[in-house]
Amino acid sequence: MRVEVLKCNYERVLKEIKVACENVGRSPDEITIVAVTKNVDVNTMMLAHSVGIKHFGENRAQELRDKYPELEDLDVTWHFIGRIQTNKVKYFVPICEYVHSLWRIEEAKEIQKRADKLGKNIKIFVEVNIAGESTKAGLNEVELKGFLKELRVYDRLEIIGLMTMAPYVENPEEVRWVFRRLREKLNELKNLNGGNIKLEHLSMGMSNDYRIAVEEGATFVRIGTAIFRGGEK
Ligand SMILES: *Cc1c(COP(=O)(O)O)cnc(C)c1O
Repeated sequence: MRVEVLKCNYERVLKEIKVACENVGRSPDEITIVAVTKNVDVNTMMLAHSVGIKHFGENRAQELRDKYPELEDLDVTWHFIGRIQTNKVKYFVPICEYVHSLWRIEEAKEIQKRADKLGKNIKIFVEVNIAGESTKAGLNEVELKGFLKELRVYDRLEIIGLMTMAPYVENPEEVRWVFRRLREKLNELKNLNGGNIKLEHLSMGMSNDYRIAVEEGATFVRIGTAIFRGGEK
């Protein structure tokens, strides 16, 4: 991928975030951009780092494990954002500081075990299926509180917030309610805070809808296509 294209894409994303922030009186400093690098090659990832991207998100544990050795010297923070398979937790725990997609207790148990071995804490978002799409991962809202309480015993997991994926729609205004609802959920659940439960962040917004997600309070956006488009070989 040409670095000029990458730079231009990234600058557009920064600008859109700035505008969305201005619309609602937020500061862009509150927002972490996680560049989603699934199917992006290591050379392009090095270019991404060179234009200022400091957070990478992968959704497949093996792809992350395979690419990481060539990138380990970069000062970047790694995020695991995809479906968790218990037998692959061992691949991402040593690398990642954040996991965005926890919603099953077996997975929590395995992350705890692997992280504890390394003497490391992992920052965790609990994934919520706000829109109730049957194809999407995540807990439904009524399960959320009980799940969070169960997580209290896993002291290597710092539960920092909630994550959701909105349905894909042409006009992202139609999914504004999803983001708003996740924010309301977070606020409702903050009274559980204490110990390893530190609910504060919202991971929401992808290429198609991050502007709306930012207006609704996202503190982490996960953006792939809008950053890496135009780099197809
Ligand atoms: C792929 C992916 C993204 C980014 O999607 P884009 O539409 O390419 O920005 C964000 N979150 C998750 C969980 C993903 O799998």
